[in-house]
Amino acid sequence: MKLNKYYDDLKDSYLFHTVAVKTAEYAKKNPDKKIIKLGIGDVTRPLPAACVRAMKEACDEQLTVAGFRGYGPYEGFDFLRGAISDYYAGRGTKVGAHEIYVSDGAKSDIGNILDLFDRGNTVLVPDPVYPVYVDTNVMCGRKVIYAESNEENGFLPAPDDSVSADLIYICSPNNPTGAAYTRDALAEWVKYARSRGAIILYDAAYEAFITDGALARSIYEIDGARECAIEFCSFSKNAGFTGERCGYCVLPDELAAEGKKLADMWLRRQSTRYNGAPYIIQRGAAAAFTAEGQAQIKENLDYYKKNADMIGKCLDSLGIYYTGGVNSPYIWLKCPDDMGSWEFFDLLLNECQVVGTPGEGFGKCGKGFFRLTSFNTHENTAEAVERIKARFGK
Ligand code: PLP
Repeated sequence: MKLNKYYDDLKDSYLFHTVAVKTAEYAKKNPDKKIIKLGIGDVTRPLPAACVRAMKEACDEQLTVAGFRGYGPYEGFDFLRGAISDYYAGRGTKVGAHEIYVSDGAKSDIGNILDLFDRGNTVLVPDPVYPVYVDTNVMCGRKVIYAESNEENGFLPAPDDSVSADLIYICSPNNPTGAAYTRDALAEWVKYARSRGAIILYDAAYEAFITDGALARSIYEIDGARECAIEFCSFSKNAGFTGERCGYCVLPDELAAEGKKLADMWLRRQSTRYNGAPYIIQRGAAAAFTAEGQAQIKENLDYYKKNADMIGKCLDSLGIYYTGGVNSPYIWLKCPDDMGSWEFFDLLLNECQVVGTPGEGFGKCGKGFFRLTSFNTHENTAEAVERIKARFGK
């Protein structure tokens, strides 16, 4: 017996652990101080009532012979796939219900999709990055190269024709930088991918936060994307399903390589290794697309947006460079006075009792940057902002 040797190549991530340890140590030494956490990566608002009601009704159905559901379709129930297709259509984007594959979340799909691709492919990921893209590829020994995101390119790298990649990860709006691509900028990536037969793995988990009409909410808004892109999306960040677990990916009919439709391979993969997302959860997810569900989601998103706006205005007033804050729950700021990410973390904790996430934990281009999130309450966010202003204002 031999173990998967590629696990040895994984870098240990001490980021959130170290943040938690440092915060706990400070709290122990300073029990009288109120610490405000602006590093929260999970949603905090309660679920939309429409989704909860639909899940309760689906539970009750299980009490009857007629309503009982056992194994469901591997690709998701038609009622949900249809609702997702209508959601795209409502934004003028054509995605057929049969092209949508429901799952237990975007994270699983993003890792599982790699079963379709040869280990010899080269993978291009942006730096800084949602660590799942890197680690899932390292685990199977695939070569990972990076597209540098920095202040010069506004944390939105453009394709470089001298770089050769087979799989390209794009996350827009981005975690951790909050930066989001315009349609024109995404069109460059589609052109690049098509020119070399590469596949774009497009993570749209935060699309619901977009309000700017120039920004793409789906890669399929770009001509030619149906031939070269798989899109991943989630109910976690819009409907707050981080605990319920539901997401989906789109594999368009046109997406093929070596004479094979990728959708056929994906269904073969899913039907072998997966038995479908729970009926009750899919009922709840479908309710997210009703008028009532959408209104309740908007209320929650507006809540987070107000927090992001408070943080953004504070940084504006201090003249601190940042990306995100609009069209995203994340604010990615340049540490003042050329401080390192951890140096700024310590200072913010010790002097303002505010906790965020050091940017270098997301990749080497994150050095000197810092992530704040909008997932705390209005009251706490306002208080944190006041403390930051008092410390860094001239
Ligand atoms: N993609 C990005 C960029 C994320 O930040 C996250 C979660 O934080 C996910 C995907 C995971 O989504 P899900 O909860 O659907 O697995």
